Amino acid sequence: MNLQINNLSKTYPNGVQALKDVSLNISNGMFGLLGPNGAGKSTLMRTIATLQDADSGEILFDGIDVKKEKQELRKVLGYLPQEFGVYPKVSAEEMLLYIARLKGIDRASERKELVKALLNQVNLYSHRNKYLGGYSGGMKQRFGIAQALIGDPKLVIVDEPTAGLDPAERLRFNNLLSEIGENIVIILSTHIVDDVNELCNDMAIIAGGQVVQRGNPEDLVNNITNRIWSKRIRKDEIAAYQSKYKLILSKLSAGGVVIHILSDNDPGEGFKKETAGLEDVYFSNIA
Ligand code: ADP
Repeated sequence: MNLQINNLSKTYPNGVQALKDVSLNISNGMFGLLGPNGAGKSTLMRTIATLQDADSGEILFDGIDVKKEKQELRKVLGYLPQEFGVYPKVSAEEMLLYIARLKGIDRASERKELVKALLNQVNLYSHRNKYLGGYSGGMKQRFGIAQALIGDPKLVIVDEPTAGLDPAERLRFNNLLSEIGENIVIILSTHIVDDVNELCNDMAIIAGGQVVQRGNPEDLVNNITNRIWSKRIRKDEIAAYQSKYKLILSKLSAGGVVIHILSDNDPGEGFKKETAGLEDVYFSNIA
């Protein structure tokens, strides 16, 4: 299985260029698309999911030309969009049975079996008769994964799934994602570095509509190892350090600020060598 994105560009009618010549080759497993708000992630996800067209470029999945063969792609697609509305007065079980019918699972007994298995998989079986309107954020997202998995998709897209979840819900959701098969292409779009760290064996960083970094998280971290230096400073010193060094991130810590800078050599001035992490990779690419 292979998703090939070639030279995709998109400008919205208001003049915003959301994608600028994006090319990516994505194979089986969990792929992380990491980028800040406004980077173009949802535009790219919606284009892959056949919900909108790019102005130029092409997307090929397993022999399917996504723009020309939308129905073919939809048959193998599972999609959890960023904005995920639910019918408030329908139960999870009813809704999943309904979606299964739309997706062409004709035998009632087969639909029932499948929905039962999915509800168990996403740990909602005991809540199956509850209205979706009464579900918590985390339950809604798990329901969203269940609906995306109906029909045995070969390509699963989840767009910013953990934004707004509390830490326990996020952990539960990520555990669920990690259990989806290795033999399909799963794209996780997110601005949360830890989600990619925990789940993805391959990733890209997108900023301003362009792919600015690409690789597996471990290699990307290795590339900047020995080049990250940290120092605790006062908040009012940030601007001075920013003008002198390539400052990539600053974190509040115990009333002060810890900054990370990128430097090939020991900058002196009380900086300590820091163990590089994916956060350093991310911020050094989007800064
Ligand atoms: P992300 O998902 O990374 O936050 P989006 O793809 O939603 O990024 O947005 C990329 C850029 O395109 C942003 O500047 C956003 O404001 C703009 N944008 C997104 N959708 C539309 C639209 N329908 N019309 C006009 N501009 C849009």
